[in-house]
Amino acid sequence: VEEHGTPDRSIVTTCAYCGVGCSFEAQMKGNEVIRMVPFKGGAANQGHACVKGRFAFGYATHKDRIKAPMIRDAIDQPWRTVSWDEAITFAAERFKAIQAQHGRNSIGGITSSRCTNEETYLVQKLIRAAFGNNNTDTCARVCHSPTGFGLKATLGESAGTQTFDSVRFADAILVIGANPTDAHPVFGSQLRRRLREGADLIVADPRKIDLLKTPHLSSAVHLPLRPGTNVALINALAHVVITEGLEDRAFITERCDTAAFEQWEAFIKQSSNSPEALADVTGVAPEQVREAARRFAQAANGAIYYGLGVTEHSQGSTMVMGIANLALATGNIGREGVGVNPLRGQNNVQGSCDMGSFPHEFPGYQHVGDDAVRTRFEALWGVPLDAEPGLRIPNMFDAAINGEFKGMYVQGEDIAQSDPDTQHVEAALRSLDCLVVQDIFLNETAKFAHVLLPGSTFLEKDGTFTNAERRINRVRKVMPPLAGKEDWQVTMALANALGYPMNYGHPSEIMDEIAQLTPTFTGVSYNKLEQLGSIQWPCNEQYPEGTPIMHEMEFPIGKARFAITTFVPTEERSTRRYPLLLTTGRILSQYNVGAQTRRTDNQIWHHEDRLELHPSDAQVRGIKDGDWVGISSRAGETVLRALISERMQPGVVYTTFHHPESGANVITTDASDWATNCPEYKVTAVQVVPVSAP
Ligand code: SF4
Repeated sequence: VEEHGTPDRSIVTTCAYCGVGCSFEAQMKGNEVIRMVPFKGGAANQGHACVKGRFAFGYATHKDRIKAPMIRDAIDQPWRTVSWDEAITFAAERFKAIQAQHGRNSIGGITSSRCTNEETYLVQKLIRAAFGNNNTDTCARVCHSPTGFGLKATLGESAGTQTFDSVRFADAILVIGANPTDAHPVFGSQLRRRLREGADLIVADPRKIDLLKTPHLSSAVHLPLRPGTNVALINALAHVVITEGLEDRAFITERCDTAAFEQWEAFIKQSSNSPEALADVTGVAPEQVREAARRFAQAANGAIYYGLGVTEHSQGSTMVMGIANLALATGNIGREGVGVNPLRGQNNVQGSCDMGSFPHEFPGYQHVGDDAVRTRFEALWGVPLDAEPGLRIPNMFDAAINGEFKGMYVQGEDIAQSDPDTQHVEAALRSLDCLVVQDIFLNETAKFAHVLLPGSTFLEKDGTFTNAERRINRVRKVMPPLAGKEDWQVTMALANALGYPMNYGHPSEIMDEIAQLTPTFTGVSYNKLEQLGSIQWPCNEQYPEGTPIMHEMEFPIGKARFAITTFVPTEERSTRRYPLLLTTGRILSQYNVGAQTRRTDNQIWHHEDRLELHPSDAQVRGIKDGDWVGISSRAGETVLRALISERMQPGVVYTTFHHPESGANVITTDASDWATNCPEYKVTAVQVVPVSAP
């Protein structure tokens, strides 16, 4: 208080970092945030916070913020600062000219999981209604798109099943490909509390994550699988459940499609799915797999939490279905302390998917090819809509390189840095005739842009975010937008300049429209959010106050469907040339590509990405802790300093990706999930050699 003075008011809002969605009181003095205080009334965090939400908000007023629109005719020319009107008109005229010359489908756009639900909704509406095609995608493509696919296929809804608080009732907790104490710290603390109370912990991860070092842990099994073998491991766990008679027959008979179960049962019982048969593939000792399967299946309540270590694989969608299979087979769905819980990376991944960002789905995961659905949208939006799914992000890049895709509107996403195979992405961006980037900083993507529209941070706008437990939280404006417009106002202006009228006075009006068109949101309004504090969807006539636990009585598809999950080895495997497998992740104090956290004091705690490797791999290469090493893959090469760590298993190396100069995505390849094109960030075959300092 002495340092920053006494606040003159406090405004409750939502953290803009991870998918936990913590509530904070922004303590204000004039237009300045002097402190972010965790809000005790926040349903997701109950007064707790981590170092990102608590301290890393200063980026909002950082000197690097873009404060005025800029345009240029070509990317080798200098930027010209112009008025909002001139920039919007410039963008609209270019988009119109491209469509006149190359056709309606030659432009598209990308929504952001950092922006609000209302902003995301408007961007996909702009693309479908004003561009006249379905070339809309989201940065969730590169993180949790397999969750959307896998959970919809098996459980009928593309969302996690529980509240975070539900972990208090879990007796066995299976964490797969997630590192909650770094990436979802407030939930990580809740989880640790439950472990200290005696819940069993099972971790499936190539690394010894910190959760395994929880003090007073009563019991833990670590399954240190080789990167790329998730599906083999989940099949082996399910094999033990079925062959040892540990399945919940009553649940399966009552709640699941029994024909699908019988097919899956015949598949999973095959000896080729046994832990012994798969030990050479996964690298995990069979007795460990059997122990883990028994503990999970025999617990009164078994809960599964997973992260990007599940989804960012060539079999990401298969693995999500495998996780759902295991939960269904053991009857762990539809009550407290159980469930399938994707830990969403960004603040509004759930929301950006819910709001119709994908090229094949309107808001609420309603398919664009469904005539009845499309007719409802056409009636409210007042234009005919395309029934054909549009291009996904990687398809946009390929089409750009082929000369068929010429214009792109990117809101709040640094695709040049965060998408894999940087060289390919840059070639695609360089070939565009009009790239419009709307962001708070001059990011890597902006280097290829023709129009730069200043974005607004979460402190400068009203709206909502939806966290990983489907909780819709209010985001409240605490200061005016630095460049004069909130993101939703910019999209609206672009739509109007393109000749498609949009006229909203406040984001609450956008939410009212979302509620009209989205069956799971029909009961959501800003008034109700004020009354209840937050709402977990579905919120409609059947569930007027929302739904903390999904699938209690029935699944949206009636009976849940088991899916056959055949293991297919990834193309990325260690070879003589590239003998190590690289996997990636986050660290507590930094966030994603670091655009925000690197511009705050959190930089003190982690100022460079390092390459973690096992002592034995370091020793044979003559690498000492802190040495510079060159890392090469079939996609590219980069240089980092080494961090020698027993957390790694031999043959596997690891890095974070918070600093652009570390070039993590220069070495990741173009391999992707078979169903959704989510990139395979988590397995890259590499060689590591000592080099001199760059
Ligand atoms: Fe923000 Fe996530 Fe930290 Fe909560 S746990 S304060 S939502 S970064």
